[in-house]
Amino acid sequence: MPEPSAESRADARRAISVTELFTIGIGPSSSHTVGPMRAAHAFAEAALDAIQPVRVRCELFGSLSLTGRGHATDTAVILGLAGHLPDAVDPDAIPAILASVRDEGRLPLGGRVPIDFAAEDIVFSHEFLPGHPNAVRFTAADAQGEEVSRTYFSIGGGVVVEAGAALHIANAAVTHPFDSGAELLEIGEATGLSIGAIVRRNEGAWRSEGETDAFLDAVRDAMLASIERGCAAEGILPGGLNVRRRAKALHATLLARKDRAGPASVMEWISLWALAVNEENAAGGRVVTAPTNGAAGVIPAVLKYYESFVEGASPEGSRMLLATAAAIGFLYKKRASISAAEMGCQGEVGVACSMAAAGLAAVLGGTNQQIENAAEIGMEHNLGLTCDPIGGLVQVPCIERNTMGAVKAVNAAHLALHGDGSHVVPLDAVIETMRQTGDHMRSEYKETSLGGLAVNVVAC
Ligand code: SF4
Repeated sequence: MPEPSAESRADARRAISVTELFTIGIGPSSSHTVGPMRAAHAFAEAALDAIQPVRVRCELFGSLSLTGRGHATDTAVILGLAGHLPDAVDPDAIPAILASVRDEGRLPLGGRVPIDFAAEDIVFSHEFLPGHPNAVRFTAADAQGEEVSRTYFSIGGGVVVEAGAALHIANAAVTHPFDSGAELLEIGEATGLSIGAIVRRNEGAWRSEGETDAFLDAVRDAMLASIERGCAAEGILPGGLNVRRRAKALHATLLARKDRAGPASVMEWISLWALAVNEENAAGGRVVTAPTNGAAGVIPAVLKYYESFVEGASPEGSRMLLATAAAIGFLYKKRASISAAEMGCQGEVGVACSMAAAGLAAVLGGTNQQIENAAEIGMEHNLGLTCDPIGGLVQVPCIERNTMGAVKAVNAAHLALHGDGSHVVPLDAVIETMRQTGDHMRSEYKETSLGGLAVNVVAC
C-alpha cells in the first residue's frame, strides 16, 4: 500500500473549524459513505458543466473497494451522482431512491439529467492508488465518446480531496493559531483562556459567536436525537451479518431497574448511549460525524453522561465540552490522521475517546493541563487498535467498541482530574506515537477487512 501523500493529510498550518470536525451526515462510514457521496456529487456537477454525459463509470480503489460493499460505498456513490448530499438526504427516502435507479436502470445525474446506469458501472478494484488508500475515480462520457475524468481521495471524517489539488478549504486568520498541544497550553498560559474558550475565540474568524453557539447546539441536538432514535429502534441491522440491535432492550432494562445506583449503573447507561448511536449509524441513519462515523457514538455518550449525571450541567457546558473536544480533534487531524485506512481504529475510536475525555475534563472543572492529560490518557490506551470489521460492515467490533471508547473517556477524564496536570507523556508525543504506529501497521489491519476479526470470524 502506498504511503499517504502530503496532500491527503490536513495541512498542519491550516486553521480548522469545528464545522469541519462535526458534520451531520448519514451512516455507516464517514470515509466510505459520506466522503464518496460528496465526491460523486461534486463530480456530477463537474461533468454536467463540461459535457452532456450519457454514461458515468465509477472505480473504487484500495480500502474503498475492499470494504466498500459493507460500508455502503456503492449506494453512497449512486446517491451522490443523483444529486444528494449526506447532510440533506432523508435517510428514510434512501431505499426508494436506490430502488428506482435499480429498477429503471436510469439515474438523474446531478438530480436533473437522466442517464443510463447499471450496477456494473461501479467497479471494485483492489488496486491501491498512490496518494491515499481511499480513492475513487469517476469517468463520464457523452454520446460522441468525449470523456471527463476525476479522481478523489476520501481522507477521513467525510473530507474529500481531488487528486492533484490542494485541500479546497480556505484558510482563516484565527486569533490564536495552534498546531500542537504544547502551543495550546502556551496560549492558555499567556491569555488565561481555557482550551474551549480558545477554540471559540478562533471560530470568530469564520462566523459570529452566536452562529458558533447555534452550530454547537445543533450538533448537540443531533447527537442526542441519534441516541433517542437508537433507543427506540429494534430488529436486525442490514448487511447480512444478522447483528440484532440491542439498545432498545437495554434501555428498557435500565429503566425498569429498581436500584438505579447499582455498581455498574453509570457505565451501563454510557454503554447504552454509545450502542444506540452506532446502531443508528450501522443502519444508515442520521448521526454526527465526530470525528468519524465509525466512532460516532463516543462523544454523544460522554455528552449525555455529562448532561445526565453531572450536577450543574448546562447548555453552555455542553458547548464547552464540544469545543474542547474539537481542539483535540484538530491536533490529530493536523499531526496525524483520523482515517482508519491510514491509522486503524486508533485513528477513529481512539481519537474520539481522546476528544471526549478532554471535553469532559473541561466541564468537570479541569485546568488546561488536566484537560491535555485527559486527552493523552484517552489515546495512550487505544494505541495500536486495529480496524478489522467483520464482513466490511461497521458493526462488529465497531458498535461495542464505541461503548468501550466512551467508558474509557469518562475514566480518563476522572483520572486526569485526580492529578495536578503534570504527567510523563505529553499529548503531542502520544499523537506522534499514534501516527508512527499507524504508518507501521500492516494494511490488513487498516479498514481492508483482510486481517484480524474479519478473517477469523466467518461472516454469514
Ligand atoms: S473497527 Fe474501528 S475504525 Fe474500523 S470500521 Fe470499525 S469503528 Fe471504524
